Amino acid sequence: MTRNRLKSLEFSRAIPVAILFLLFFSSSYLISQESIRFEDHFLDKAMRLNLYLVGEAKEEKLIIQSIYQEELWPESKTNLTNPFNYGHYFVKVYEVASNRLLYAKGFDCQFGEYKTTTPAINGVQKVFQRAVRIPWPKHRVNVVFEVRDRKNLLHPLTVETIDPEDYHHIRESAKSGDYIFEIKKSGPPAERVDLVFLAEGYRAEEKEKFVGDVKKFSGYLFEVEPYRSNQEKFNIYGVFRASAENGPDEPRQKVYRNTVLKASFNALDLDRYLLTEEGFLMREMAAEVPYDAIIILVNSQRYGGGGIYNDYCITTVDNQASKAVFLHEFGHSFAGLADEYYTSDVSYNEFYPQGTEPLEPNITALLDPENLKWKELLSPGISLPTEYGKEEIERLQAERRANFQEMNRALEEVRKKNLKEPEIKKVQTRFQEKDKAIQARIRAVREKYRDLEDKVGAFEGAGYSARGLYRPMIFCIMISSPKMEFCRVCQRAIQQMIDYYSR
Ligand SMILES: [Zn+2]
Repeated sequence: MTRNRLKSLEFSRAIPVAILFLLFFSSSYLISQESIRFEDHFLDKAMRLNLYLVGEAKEEKLIIQSIYQEELWPESKTNLTNPFNYGHYFVKVYEVASNRLLYAKGFDCQFGEYKTTTPAINGVQKVFQRAVRIPWPKHRVNVVFEVRDRKNLLHPLTVETIDPEDYHHIRESAKSGDYIFEIKKSGPPAERVDLVFLAEGYRAEEKEKFVGDVKKFSGYLFEVEPYRSNQEKFNIYGVFRASAENGPDEPRQKVYRNTVLKASFNALDLDRYLLTEEGFLMREMAAEVPYDAIIILVNSQRYGGGGIYNDYCITTVDNQASKAVFLHEFGHSFAGLADEYYTSDVSYNEFYPQGTEPLEPNITALLDPENLKWKELLSPGISLPTEYGKEEIERLQAERRANFQEMNRALEEVRKKNLKEPEIKKVQTRFQEKDKAIQARIRAVREKYRDLEDKVGAFEGAGYSARGLYRPMIFCIMISSPKMEFCRVCQRAIQQMIDYYSR
């Protein structure tokens, strides 16, 4: 009560100051907004910068390898300095003549993830390709690449002055004779979200299967919110190039296949992590159509995928979990969402440094609960952090594991004594009964907190960490969702990204 009154008093006092401020500064503010008009500084074309990122955990280099011209600029012509603060890297374009910032956008790359792995920490150097696009400048510009430190502050990594007239820039046509098709066309590329699906591991005779898969996966997207209510803001294309063989590489199985984009499981030496390291070729294929976001469909039944912010998402098509994998990975690549799960089955070391707020919109370190980044969406009266029986369930799950191990030990004993089938059965039943009882207790805990399932709070366990990181709701496609829904915070972040590309 008292606090609210104080707030309103402060507010009324603040109004005259705000008006004065507006009177003094609105004219110059308008000038600066007006003066960064797309057509004053850029042609309606894209400049694709092919980059190599090389190094290890402590040291990295970013080198521009080549520059390509793309036929048109399909992204927004009004949101030039990107309202989002996502991505561990940033590209910024400054006009040489005035040093004014003309364009900025954050991005991630596989090298950024590699830096947090044990080999990188031990000094093993690696090199990765990454292509980044900016609108084609009319005049000379300084292009600055920045990288974040462990506190998420940006520092310059590479600065390059680019003359758009330089004849070394490659202006060849992107058309390479691939089979190109359109699934959905709702408006001009600069005012729509343009998705391109690329074929990986489909043989020539499987062209129609790929077309069917593109239809199927676009359909998956529009089954969930907020994509469902924004269908008319999307254009969808497919690019088919035949691979010599089916499916991706599976190094742990010693299976290697000759495919267009050389996609491979066991990225960062993880079983299910599927990526391509052909970043340049992927962008060449994508550039055959206007695109904002790339989706690679891999013709395989195995479970797996990957997604890198503002780069691409990749998924297999014929696994029963493919739909969930696609929606989840596209959440990473398109909307900059974080993983909300907290299993330890990752190769990263302290991916989110303690004491630093993560960049992503859907997880938090809860360093300042009063100013939680999704505070507008919190359910009224919810406690922060939100107790949801996590400790109790984890204790019971540990009890289940211990019981299972004990059963195996007991069965080993029975076998050593050469006892007969009824004796084995008796031992098994004893442990199975105990397991059923523990499961019932887990269900009871879940039931106790059932009311929280549609609430927005701050639930501990997110971003590969069981402690110290929080997610907005119990269920979400970024952790797991029985109803196949994004939590309300992820929905808002996706909506903002759709608006960014389509306004
Ligand atoms: Zn979420």
